[in-house]
Amino acid sequence: MAEVLRENFDGVEAQTETVKCSSCGSNMVFNPETQTLECPHCGTTKSFGNVGMAGELDLRAGLYGGNRWTAEEAVVFGCDNCGAKVVLKQGETAASCPFCGTAHVRKTEELAGVKPNALIPFAFDGKKAIELSKAWAKKRFFAPRKFKKNVDADHVKGVYAPCFTFDSKTTSYYEGRIGQTRTRTVGSGKNRRTQTYTVWRNICGTFDFNYDDLLITAGSKFGQRELNKISPFDTNNSRTYEEEYLLGFMAYHYDSELSDCWSRAKKDIDADLRRRILSQYVHDKVAYLNVSTSHADVTYKYVMLPVYVGNYNFKSKLYNFFVNGSTGKVWGKTPKSPLKITIAAILGVAVVTLLILLLGGNI
Ligand SMILES: [Zn+2]
Ligand SMILES: [Zn+2]
Repeated sequence: MAEVLRENFDGVEAQTETVKCSSCGSNMVFNPETQTLECPHCGTTKSFGNVGMAGELDLRAGLYGGNRWTAEEAVVFGCDNCGAKVVLKQGETAASCPFCGTAHVRKTEELAGVKPNALIPFAFDGKKAIELSKAWAKKRFFAPRKFKKNVDADHVKGVYAPCFTFDSKTTSYYEGRIGQTRTRTVGSGKNRRTQTYTVWRNICGTFDFNYDDLLITAGSKFGQRELNKISPFDTNNSRTYEEEYLLGFMAYHYDSELSDCWSRAKKDIDADLRRRILSQYVHDKVAYLNVSTSHADVTYKYVMLPVYVGNYNFKSKLYNFFVNGSTGKVWGKTPKSPLKITIAAILGVAVVTLLILLLGGNI
């Protein structure tokens, strides 16, 4: 497959090919343990250029294009089985799909699109990721034994997940009507009773809040739920994106454009602002609340997050689990063993029956 690539990009490939080892000529890869490039064959290391902190980009400029990957820098591979697309540095090939494990991954004609400006490097290698996954799998009580045993290198791959972070200074004007339930005692003698009633009041005002690095995923196979489950990621300290970080890893190609992700961020911000505004008042009912918000100084980062993606097929259903490549936090779905569920249900019924029998004598 490497040969095919060479033919396609004959001529330009010489300047942009993967970094070769100075001693033996093998392709060098990024080693998370040393944070340098390393030759997997002879161990020669090479530190790479500037390791700067990533800066914020102006959103308006970003919505009109942004910095794009050229065909000479990166190529897109698509999975025939699950549709996932990954970006690899020119000259590298994908052996299998990180999301479903199939070997049916092919180079596509598509361009890689907008280039990231920020990245959090992997902090540990694949071996450690497998250990963490195994420890996590062990604690999944209902997972079949086979699943726990089959977590291995073939099924756990390091993938940079594309995400956008947004900063915004918001100012909101709001007006609404909120209520609080109270109780009072009315009547006297035999007619004395408790009544509940609502005290309503109108509220209005302005509310300012600054959002910093609100994180929105740009990939559907590594969705917002998955991202939130293995968060946090220290995006405020992300590095300037350098191509060398990608060596030996894949980048998951985004499914959502910057504009879509900004729309989603605004929705999240709206919901969050409502909560923040209402939390200033004692209330238990909201008749209505109108909020109109303006955003100023909006900036974004297109950041690649380090995620080890695990995949597992069980009874022809696909399960993914994810390991945060900087903190080691694991989350995912596992198959459930029907036998274990049945045993648990029987035990549950037995415990309840036993309790009824034991307590029965005392009632
Ligand atoms: Zn070497
Ligand atoms: Zn796939």
